[in-house]
Amino acid sequence: MDQGGTLDFPQCAGGENGAGGVRSKWHDHFADSPDVLKGPGREQTIVSVLDVEIGGDEFIPMAGPCSVETESQLMATAHHVRRAGARILRGGAFKPRSSPYSFQGLGLAGLKMLAHAREETGLAIVTEAMSECDVPMVAEYADILQIGSRSMENYSLLEAAARSGKPILLKRGMVATIEDFLRAAQFVLDHGNPNVILCERGIRTFETALRNTFDVAAIALLKQISHLPVIADPSHACGHRELVAPLSRIAVAAGADGLLVEVHPNPDKAWSDAEQTLGFAEFDEMMASLEPYIALRSAAAHAAYEPQAMEAVG
Ligand code: PEP
Ligand code: MN
Repeated sequence: MDQGGTLDFPQCAGGENGAGGVRSKWHDHFADSPDVLKGPGREQTIVSVLDVEIGGDEFIPMAGPCSVETESQLMATAHHVRRAGARILRGGAFKPRSSPYSFQGLGLAGLKMLAHAREETGLAIVTEAMSECDVPMVAEYADILQIGSRSMENYSLLEAAARSGKPILLKRGMVATIEDFLRAAQFVLDHGNPNVILCERGIRTFETALRNTFDVAAIALLKQISHLPVIADPSHACGHRELVAPLSRIAVAAGADGLLVEVHPNPDKAWSDAEQTLGFAEFDEMMASLEPYIALRSAAAHAAYEPQAMEAVG
């Protein structure tokens, strides 16, 4: 691949002073992760799981509890989020916690509950693998392996996850630059797995009012420079349930391909991340409030392919 800053992109003609020049500068900046960047012959990656395509035309909401707690908690949530429009069920069986005294997850029992929820609802499952030793077991039950923020630079885990052949939902490390994030994605590709979904989940900054700072510009930038699907996790990004819906709308407007949102039948009683978890009614409201944004997103995507629309924007 040409890393000399003169890449010729059909989608961004305009020479060094136009969009093409701007785009090729990003290629210089992210020269360590060339294969995750858009380029000639590198089409948008679409990750297919069961009947869902992530990175395609459809916006993909993923929702569920922070942690799998009980069969009834998980089933009630799975049925509810499916009816409300979620396409993928999330839920942690292995929980990386900042405090060693917090609930660490049900492990294998939680994975079995997730598999049962898939049987009952048809929803695909995304769940976290925390160590390379757990990857074979998690991969047996999950449709997508989540690599958590705290594990983004755990290279033996990334390698084992990549080699499992399952799609990888890669969360941005909480102190990772966009460059670090793309390098981790490149590492997964280098180990033979092209099915990587990038997830912006907020980063640590000097701001302390919120759990993290939602880096919406990262979503917009990643959508411009990478062919990998990009999703947003507004729950961990802000840590407050009343901010989850507005951040979700912002994520759609920034071009995200989907969302990862925490939902629980009784959020105040959730065993982990209660403050940021939505109840069922709040999730329904959030989904309804996203509708016009998703419609605009689809209209914009189709307009981009209309020759007349292209002429209209020059
Ligand atoms: C999670 O999604 O359950 C989680 C622990 O998120 P993060 O790795 O982004 O903190
Ligand atoms: Mn959580």
